[in-house]
Amino acid sequence: MQLNKGENLWETVLQQLDETAKRINLESWIHKKLRKSKRELTVSIPVKMDNGSVEVFTGYRVQHNITRGPAKGGIRYSPEVTLDEIKALAMLMTWKCAVVNIPYGGAKGGVACNPFKMSAEELERLTRRYTSEILPVIGPEKDIPAPDISTDSQTMAWIMDTYSIDKGYSVPGVVTGKPIAIGGSEGRSEATGRGVVYTLLNTLKHLNLIEGKKVIVQGYGKVGSVAANLLFKEGYRIIGVGEIDGAVYNADGLDIGRLNKHRKKSGSIVKFKEADSITNKELLQLKCDILIPAALENQITKDNASRIKAKIVVEAANGPTTPKADKILKEKGVFVVPDILANAGGVIVSYFEWVQGLQSYFWSEREVNLKLRDIITKAFYKVLEISLKKKTSMREAAYSLAVNKVAEATRIRGLYP
Ligand code: NAD
Repeated sequence: MQLNKGENLWETVLQQLDETAKRINLESWIHKKLRKSKRELTVSIPVKMDNGSVEVFTGYRVQHNITRGPAKGGIRYSPEVTLDEIKALAMLMTWKCAVVNIPYGGAKGGVACNPFKMSAEELERLTRRYTSEILPVIGPEKDIPAPDISTDSQTMAWIMDTYSIDKGYSVPGVVTGKPIAIGGSEGRSEATGRGVVYTLLNTLKHLNLIEGKKVIVQGYGKVGSVAANLLFKEGYRIIGVGEIDGAVYNADGLDIGRLNKHRKKSGSIVKFKEADSITNKELLQLKCDILIPAALENQITKDNASRIKAKIVVEAANGPTTPKADKILKEKGVFVVPDILANAGGVIVSYFEWVQGLQSYFWSEREVNLKLRDIITKAFYKVLEISLKKKTSMREAAYSLAVNKVAEATRIRGLYP
């Protein structure tokens, strides 16, 4: 990942925290404390590859803050993983859990590897060894990983199994996003995309935008594909979808059902006959009402922000908009639903999974979805209220709410010793 100042995610989140601290008059000792991670663990992960050679990968687990509860955050596998990126994402998790008011702190983990070039067996060995290296800092009451980019419920099952073998008994609560058969929650796999849709529906209601129906989704993975499918079912026109290997566009709307079939058959969305092939750069700049970046960070930058034509941007990905781009979007009057609110559905249902596991009492999917809608909608209106009252953007309001919540807990607990 590029480390340009101001475009690097760690620099971005620090800048956002500094601006929030100023806005809410945060005591300097709490501000200083929140600028640092609580714990940063770097591990080396030797893995026997299928060809008999040994590769040594680098992995991280960072806990930014645990003042409001155990640390919580996903694990990603990507060649672009760096300690700075993981630190930034851990801090974002602290704010995300606070903004939706669930009793967790923030964490994130990652391994710098190319999962697309590894076999399932190699990925299993990598996951198990990574788990054993970070084992001292994770646990149901300490830090609870979940899926993120290029990790899934199978990855979580391997982590749970490795952790449980070490303990000598089954510990389903060590991860969320598990398969249902070993204590996963109904609705968890769709939760982030569903949460994105709920925040979008709340936004459209607030803006009274009944016409706002043309949607572009960048990233057709666990989050983007669910959001696109749910919106398509609701009658929204998905005119463009992008993946790492290219994007597809149809001004009249893509038939998402047929796009899914094409992808299943060919392994990719590109070359879908009912659409034009375009680049990801072009995708972001298409005329549309709603843009959902659901791929990676730093996708909307100072270089393309002025050409974004959407009225609403719902940040399904973490950190898709750089601060400079954010200012440009604000000046253009684009309504941006910030990542820490828009994509909180995943962590909310992760929380439900953890609660259900601790009680050994499981809820129906309907119950999960209703509770998710309730929590994310409450958070949306709380953020909106602050934004209208303080005349700030939704992002500034969300940060004010989140940092104030963590600061309040820090103040009450005090400083040890
Ligand atoms: P994923 O790996 O399932 O999907 C990511 C998708 O982005 C892939 O389909 C990939 O092809 C695409 N992509 C990658 N690089 C791209 C590029 N340069 N241009 C266009 N597309 C590109 O991951 P995911 O879980 O869907 O996560 C997507 C984003 O949402 C990430 O920022 C992640 O941190 C965030 N997020 C995920 C969850 C969750 O529950 N999975 C929760 C909160 C936030």
